[in-house]
Amino acid sequence: MPSLPDAVTVRAAAKVNLELLVGPRDASGYHALATVFQAVSLYDDVTVRRAGRCSLTVAGRDAEHVPTDESNLAWRAVVAVGEGHPDAGPVAISIAKDIPVAGGMAGGSADGAAALVAADALWGVGLGRSELHRLAAGLGADVPFSVLGGTAIGTGRGDELAPAMARGSYHWVFAFSDEGLSTPRVFAELDRLRAERGEEAVHQPEPEVSPALMTALLAGDAEAVGRAMHNDLQEAALSLQPRLADTLVIGQECGALGGIVSGSGPTCAFLAASHEHALDLAVALTASGVASDVRRAQGPVPGARLIHPGKEQ
Ligand code: ATP
Repeated sequence: MPSLPDAVTVRAAAKVNLELLVGPRDASGYHALATVFQAVSLYDDVTVRRAGRCSLTVAGRDAEHVPTDESNLAWRAVVAVGEGHPDAGPVAISIAKDIPVAGGMAGGSADGAAALVAADALWGVGLGRSELHRLAAGLGADVPFSVLGGTAIGTGRGDELAPAMARGSYHWVFAFSDEGLSTPRVFAELDRLRAERGEEAVHQPEPEVSPALMTALLAGDAEAVGRAMHNDLQEAALSLQPRLADTLVIGQECGALGGIVSGSGPTCAFLAASHEHALDLAVALTASGVASDVRRAQGPVPGARLIHPGKEQ
């Protein structure tokens, strides 16, 4: 039997929601969702190394906003994998972040997914697909998608996944905001806005992803994907951070095929027609000064995957 490694590094991608529909809120306070996720080429790398005692360090983008204790999703993931496993012991976790924190791109979920896969490999646990999915869903609704990657439909709380029939590669431009948005706060704001219109949170229609988007993805038709992009949380994110509207206008003026707030925001996601168009969009967004940072990415990309051996941190 091959010996187990001393350290494992796993890379996990950020996500964008091409469509995010928010349905009725249940008794436990969660909303039924129907969403289409796509994993994009912005990554966090998580290294899990055998150590004398448990520790967690974070470097990179927004590192100062990430908890370094047991509440970190990567830490919780390692604990979940180790439970009941005889070879599990203390580990030093290091996270190299490039995904914005509280940016609506599932950065914490990516770290949780990466740590699940890393701990599994470090200790030779041999988690099957369904057990990995169970542990991922236990960490958070977006974690199963961070494990899976690609393009997928999420229902339930977003954790019941089915791969989407999708062709093509998509060029994305992301405009980050210097101030994060808390996901629960954005959902609460949506409920408030709906209540103002006389719509009760518990009596929303059951959400279903739009046939127009599924057809566009099947055809690999970026223009039609852009037209079909939609996010029910956008009005709530804009209500909490009104200046995001300026960012969306600039993307529109520069001919983005589609432009929406990503997930619960505040990151704004723009679909470009080509590599060159993405460069132009990124330059225009940067020059306008509306965003704290602008990044290009491609999607879809795979979910959490082992990159060490081959890379040490
Ligand atoms: P989502 O898109 O899934 O709603 P998000 O991208 O908006 O999430 P995250 O970056 O996942 O937000 O962070 C949300 C909060 O989770 C942070 O403010 C932080 O307190 C906590 N958190 C726990 N673990 C991590 C982690 N590894 N990286 C970032 N944040 C983490």
